[in-house]
Amino acid sequence: MGISHAEEAEEDIHKERMALFKKTEALTQIPWYYFAAIENYERNMKKEDDGELISIAVPPELWFGLGNSSMIKDEKIIEFFSGKGKDGNGDSKADPENPEDILYTMGNIILEYGQTKDDIKIALWNYYKRDLTVQTIINTSKVFKKFQEINLTDRDFPVSVNYNYSYNNTWGDRRGFGGLRIHEGTDIFAGYGTPIKSTTYGVIEMMGWNLYGGWRIGIRDIFNIYHYYAHMSGYDDDIKLGQVVKPGDVLGSVGSTGYGPPGTSGKFPPHLHYGMYKDNGYSEWSFDPYPYLKKWERMAKD
Ligand SMILES: [Zn+2]
Repeated sequence: MGISHAEEAEEDIHKERMALFKKTEALTQIPWYYFAAIENYERNMKKEDDGELISIAVPPELWFGLGNSSMIKDEKIIEFFSGKGKDGNGDSKADPENPEDILYTMGNIILEYGQTKDDIKIALWNYYKRDLTVQTIINTSKVFKKFQEINLTDRDFPVSVNYNYSYNNTWGDRRGFGGLRIHEGTDIFAGYGTPIKSTTYGVIEMMGWNLYGGWRIGIRDIFNIYHYYAHMSGYDDDIKLGQVVKPGDVLGSVGSTGYGPPGTSGKFPPHLHYGMYKDNGYSEWSFDPYPYLKKWERMAKD
């Protein structure tokens, strides 16, 4: 019972958010999935999801205007102080705690630059002043647009569970090649040609040869996490840079490429190196994928 109630509450909050994004699209003509992606990015920046309906936090001096030090919410007074805060729910107050006011304010901040994709990108850059943040928001907006959904929780195991494979928790082990490095991932051993699949919804952010990784793919998901697949024998024909993927989409197959110039192969047994990196809005760091792999493996086998 407890679980189903929690799931229902989850469902409700997604529906409520979606309704707000669509309402703000109607008011601003900016597509809903940009608001959804901004909100999603800021929520995932937090250490814990506090269940807030809309997580976007506009800095107070930007919202109220410099000089409006008592933070008066009257829209006209905010305007007088050149604040950006806007009233989205028709009560003449621009309240930074009110979801409709927050989204309408964000819409107006973007509209200062225009409504095209490029305008929105420039607006986001000027607001966040960080390339990775803009890239993540744009990628997430592409995923939301493609699936017309914000509640995307499916997952898959990165190698086909119908093939033979094995893996242990090797995160943090020391590696010799290329000086002292620690092992930032889990190695999943499997035969050449075993299909490699996307574990998550996301966008292919990187492809190509890397000295250590060989033929590798990087996918930025909708939770501010970067998924790194290395030592592949090659890519699936349909896989392109910038492409939106979903869990289970085949990316390529297991190989043993890397540790040398392009084309180097066979210096170690075939395996998929799988790494995960989290971005908190300031920096990006590697964390242990092993517990997630265990969970996704169970999901894939069910
Ligand atoms: Zn590895």
